[in-house]
Amino acid sequence: MSVSLGLPRLRSAGPAPSGAPTGAGLMDRHGRRATDLRLSVIDKCNLRCTYCMPAGGLPWLPAAQLMTPAEITRIVTVGVHRLGVTELRLTGGEPLVRPDLEDIVAAVRTTHPELPVSVTTNGIGLTTRAAALAEAGLTRINISLDSLDAATFRALARRDRLADVLAGAEAAAAAALAPVKINAVLMAGVNDHEAPELLSWALDHGFALRFIEQMPLDADHGWTRADMVTADQIRNRLATRFRLVPHPGPREGAPAELWDVHPRTPTAGTGAGDAPLGTVGIIASVTEPFCADCKRTRITAEGRIRSCLFSHEEVELLPLLRAGATDANLAERWRAAMWAKPAAHGMDHTGLDSPDYVQPERSMSAIGG
Ligand code: SAM
Ligand code: SF4
Repeated sequence: MSVSLGLPRLRSAGPAPSGAPTGAGLMDRHGRRATDLRLSVIDKCNLRCTYCMPAGGLPWLPAAQLMTPAEITRIVTVGVHRLGVTELRLTGGEPLVRPDLEDIVAAVRTTHPELPVSVTTNGIGLTTRAAALAEAGLTRINISLDSLDAATFRALARRDRLADVLAGAEAAAAAALAPVKINAVLMAGVNDHEAPELLSWALDHGFALRFIEQMPLDADHGWTRADMVTADQIRNRLATRFRLVPHPGPREGAPAELWDVHPRTPTAGTGAGDAPLGTVGIIASVTEPFCADCKRTRITAEGRIRSCLFSHEEVELLPLLRAGATDANLAERWRAAMWAKPAAHGMDHTGLDSPDYVQPERSMSAIGG
């Protein structure tokens, strides 16, 4: 069974809303400036994570609607040269499902050697592609992994691919894409007991682990607060095996709160001043939102601007580009779209469901997480 892909409202391509600046970067009405571009290269995926995709998949976009490497590079160029974009992350769907991901990375990096380009992936296929991605100029990689237990992985991702993901992570490290970052989403009663195990594994391999609170962006609309594992609960789980100390230094708008990880019981003769085993990040998008510091702008796989993960509106960019628009036209439309960015996602952090929150029509894989 496939599920219909609810599409958000498309905002008309009229002139910039009143008050929108014409010269500055991607400013919004709330004083934030977006510099971090998340661009989805494909909506399709080879896993079906329960918190993201429906079991039957979604109606995939036809190939002709996806952006080509040249179109992606043009959009990135507009972002960098005219709008102050300083960072690019390629996501999906599953970016490695695109056979030309290496071409995309190479095209962008050749045009913008100074721009850090990272990819978020489930890691399947990295064993044969990590070296080519590094060669193409990929700066960093985030690999999503929620369980080290094959049966739990299968239940969560609805595919029996744990071994491929583990091998992919090793291949990324071997290809010098280090430090490899690992993203994990915990679900109550499914994999939350694995938090300390995941952290031990990541520390042993030199990977930087970040836990992400599950957000209500699943296609099945099955998210509940009761099943969501909060940042507080994650810290408590980790405290059964480790001692977490706030990582020194400014957070600077980064979504992950960083903790230094120490052994739970200091070994004899050692004290609190000892070097940590490593760090762990916790991204508390729901219970400790960081919307006020958000620096993100998003482009969906079919080339639409989304000002926020939780937007109910999108603005077409790719059709304008394909119709022969100038870079100035594209920049103007992008600026206008970002000016309308909502102040926050509408979920409160008191533990009660906010009446202001309405789940976006698109689910995570179709937005580009
Ligand atoms: N397929 C790639 C992957 O899984 O890394 C890239 C796309 S995926 C949508 C990007 C990230 O979003 C993954 O780390 C995934 O765990 C996360 N994600 C997906 N659905 C989520 C949800 N409902 N809440 C929080 N994170 C979610
Ligand atoms: Fe695919 Fe990533 Fe969504 Fe899992 S989280 S279904 S790997 S897009």
